[in-house]
Amino acid sequence: MTVNLKYDQKNVREYHYFLLLNLIQKHKQISRSQLASLTMISNTTVGKIVKQLIEDKLIVEVGQREGDVGRRATILEINPKGAYIIGVDIDLNTIKIAYVTLDGMVIKKQNFNFDVQQPAEFVLDKIATGITSLVSDMSVADAEKILAVGISIPGLVSWPDGKILTVPQFSWNNIPIKEYLKKELGFHVYVDNHVRAELLAESLFGSMVEYSDAVCLYIGSGVGSAIMVNNEILRGQRNTLGEIGHMTLDPNGALCDCGRLGCLQTFLCSSEIEKQTMRSIDEVSWAYEEGKDWAVKIIGRAKSYLGLAISNIICMYNPSAVLLAGPMIEQFPILVEDLGDLSNDLVWTPLRDSFQLVLPDIGKDSGVVGASALVLNEFLR
Ligand SMILES: [Zn+2]
Repeated sequence: MTVNLKYDQKNVREYHYFLLLNLIQKHKQISRSQLASLTMISNTTVGKIVKQLIEDKLIVEVGQREGDVGRRATILEINPKGAYIIGVDIDLNTIKIAYVTLDGMVIKKQNFNFDVQQPAEFVLDKIATGITSLVSDMSVADAEKILAVGISIPGLVSWPDGKILTVPQFSWNNIPIKEYLKKELGFHVYVDNHVRAELLAESLFGSMVEYSDAVCLYIGSGVGSAIMVNNEILRGQRNTLGEIGHMTLDPNGALCDCGRLGCLQTFLCSSEIEKQTMRSIDEVSWAYEEGKDWAVKIIGRAKSYLGLAISNIICMYNPSAVLLAGPMIEQFPILVEDLGDLSNDLVWTPLRDSFQLVLPDIGKDSGVVGASALVLNEFLR
């Protein structure tokens, strides 16, 4: 996938240009000679490309430090305001739209509520209007620096054509969101599942920066995962790789909302726990805090299955870290307490102690930052 950019002249498309930009992003601070030795590209070529990146305002020089052989080396960094990304986070009842810098800082954000029963076309119109109003508040110079629009959504999305295949909670099916917004706005648009967006955001700007083989396990009103191998997101044939919420863990288990029995998410996600206990998840949480037997039991069971899910993930993908994200993890910190030991007890012996469990770093803006990380990931590839 290539991105047509405003900087799209002569050498901009060249592989080396994006390779160096990617390395500068990844290392945060790096010198020209370090870039040359990492890439085996000659010092002269690195010098030329770096000059171009500085002219394109994508990177900046930020002082000097002692080099390997005692010579002072100039340090390069991404220029956070060299370009902007519009990030759109579509969640249950709320849509957040923000413009975000190249280092993942949210400059300006607006939220609006919508009703999941509203037709998708109506909601897409509201998104287009929201983006237009956000862009019209930017200076002309800043608006010209917008790379693309990234959209994060909890559902199945086709890739790269960005069609929403299904969002069970919204009853949206086959919505060509990318095509529609591209036509309405004239920007490039990238759309993907919110768990992938979360993993990319933490990998680019948060707690997962150092891991190139990583999995994000997300537990909210459903369960999903995203998988990164050697810095590449895995998508599978239908861009649904990682939909582990509907893996059968107990063929005689509880009925899942997908119509099957004993899916992983029947043990873990808030909507299934609410269904089984006939109480809201907040009530379950209070009852757990008060030590009520039934609540301690159901959360204890969730934790056992979380340990199992992690040990299965480790066997399947051999990641060096698993990011644990989503509202259930935030609401029930007990789920992650000693979870490393539990998962290690359950995992196949040769893989014991081969992985870290990591919590997210980005916080409340993770949805819009994740949406913009989708764009940046494609741009840097
Ligand atoms: Zn299911």
